[in-house]
Amino acid sequence: MSISLEVLDKYLNAELGVAKIADYCPNGIQLSGRKTVKRVMSGVSASQALIKAAITWKADLLLVHHGILWDRDSRVVTGSYKKRLQLLLEDDLTLMAFHLPLDAHPVFGNNAQIINRLDLVQGEPFGRYKGGSISFCGMPKEAISMVDFAKRVKKCFGGSPLILDFGPKKIKKVAICSGGAPEMIREAKECGADLFITGEASEFVYHYAREEGINFIAAGHHRTEMFGVQALGEHISEKFTITHKFHNIPNPI
Ligand SMILES: [Zn+2]
Repeated sequence: MSISLEVLDKYLNAELGVAKIADYCPNGIQLSGRKTVKRVMSGVSASQALIKAAITWKADLLLVHHGILWDRDSRVVTGSYKKRLQLLLEDDLTLMAFHLPLDAHPVFGNNAQIINRLDLVQGEPFGRYKGGSISFCGMPKEAISMVDFAKRVKKCFGGSPLILDFGPKKIKKVAICSGGAPEMIREAKECGADLFITGEASEFVYHYAREEGINFIAAGHHRTEMFGVQALGEHISEKFTITHKFHNIPNPI
């Protein structure tokens, strides 16, 4: 089966509530290629390696969390940015990216997926951003110690998470924000979380966590953002009977 790119783009923009979320990149189509989609490859970041893998696999659409157009970047087309564009254009491969809307979505979002995989119950919104929120808190279904919960986190994400166990020994409430959000540890403390999980750490976090008595885990930016795009790819594959494959380009950060 196949679906028109236009229909798919409209569906995804509506489903992810793109119009309602302020972001610093365009969400949805970032580069429009073939008009019909049969094969979708998903991945975390639109690196040259992922674009090449999508071309080899004969994807019509590359669906990512981190696209190639960021407000902070220069608009001048040179270097690795030019090469990415060149690869996409030469193959007529469509690039679609969903950034903050894919962190925020209550089902397919990175954070909702993490909550499921850590066997937590989805709680109140968390992660304030420009008048909205991009994540949720999660509550363990049964009382669990920080030691055991940290083991669960390691199993979920793999790699070597940075664990700062300066907070309560029992975990009742976890604040989560996928990717690079160490500054949200303050909001986690404010909302009464015993543990804050994000992707990346920052120097100040060590002292803040220690002085405020909150547990902190940095499980990897890439590793905390693998699940959303995968879930979204699987969803459109089932809904529109198209082929989907998630391709992981490992990234230790
Ligand atoms: Zn990210």
